[in-house]
Amino acid sequence: MLLGILRENRAGETRVALSPDGVSAAKKLGLEVGIEAGAGSRSFFSDESYQVQGARIFHDRSELLADADIAVQVNPPDEDVITQLKADTVWISFMSPGENQDRIRSMESANVTVMSMESIPRISRAQSMDALSSMASIAGYKAVLVAASALGKYMPMMMTAAGTIPPAKVLVLGAGVAGLQAIATARRLGAAVEAFDVRSAVKEQVESLGAAFVEVEMDEDAEGEGGYAKELDQSSREKQQELIHKHAAKSDIVITTALVPGKKAPVLVTEPMVRDMMPGSVILDMAAGQGGNCELSRPDEEIEQHQVTIFGPTNLPASMPVNASRLYGKNILALLGHLIKDGKMTFDFEDQITRDTILTHNGKGGR
Ligand code: NAD
Repeated sequence: MLLGILRENRAGETRVALSPDGVSAAKKLGLEVGIEAGAGSRSFFSDESYQVQGARIFHDRSELLADADIAVQVNPPDEDVITQLKADTVWISFMSPGENQDRIRSMESANVTVMSMESIPRISRAQSMDALSSMASIAGYKAVLVAASALGKYMPMMMTAAGTIPPAKVLVLGAGVAGLQAIATARRLGAAVEAFDVRSAVKEQVESLGAAFVEVEMDEDAEGEGGYAKELDQSSREKQQELIHKHAAKSDIVITTALVPGKKAPVLVTEPMVRDMMPGSVILDMAAGQGGNCELSRPDEEIEQHQVTIFGPTNLPASMPVNASRLYGKNILALLGHLIKDGKMTFDFEDQITRDTILTHNGKGGR
């Protein structure tokens, strides 16, 4: 079977779905690998580096799609790619199913099997395939570096001959995968870190990273299905906002990562809160692409309001393509390793990983 790796089409994307070191791992699964020419160039992987590992380079995308049994990308396919997919191809990428129903239905009509990387269940045996986590962890790390670079202050405490400089104060809102990595990174840089999440279960994880957990007295715990957050009721929301307002006013950097599955991101940082922050402080809103945790952030823009710099990056993993591509490729190979039995792709719908991840198969869609 031929595993085809396509060049990404999203503006600003630098990642590729498999790095050269993934080629030999794919061969161990019994796959041949075909790479669209230039697919790895923005991750600093040349065509030659894939060829040396035994991949074939295709200069014509349509030839690759005509031969490929499995086609893989990071981002959903555009219309041009969809029209070139042959029946029975297995397509694997992030699909943003909520936003791409039309594309998924076209692929279903063409008898393409569509697997969505964001639908991999968050269960222990699927951890090696969990691309949401591997990308969120990169984003959490990079968020702190971007914010720290824009801050006109040191992150660590500095004892100099001219006097002692206190450490920067960082507030992280949302302590899931991205938030925990942001906390760890800010701590490594020596900042004093506080964090808040509506799921009280994360308190211990936050504290084990050396950060203080900001506790809001809530009417009920907001942990919902699958360990994700639920939306808060009005009274808990007000208590939370009051506390965030107080803590944000004392912080040099606020990193927001809060998401609720299937909903617009909750607004945690309002304009009056930004107005009360210290001049020169920085907000980095990692939820800007999902509606924003900060009322003032704009997707993919850096703005200054009330003397506060506000970033709204929507694709931080693309700023670290070398590691992001390697990890994404490993997630893909782990999924393929799970699906390939006796050299053939096998779809066992009794298995939760297969069932949750497949959006459409044999012209029949679930989601
Ligand atoms: P996410 O990206 O959906 O949300 C980020 C964080 O925002 C979450 O911690 C959430 O509780 C928090 N949040 C939501 N609303 C908030 C609000 N109003 N105020 C403050 N915080 C708010 O979540 P994620 O990082 O993808 O994962 C969340 C959890 O899922 C993990 O911490 C873990 O428990 C579970 N998980 C399990 C596995 C696994 O077992 N394989 C893998 C990944 C994640």
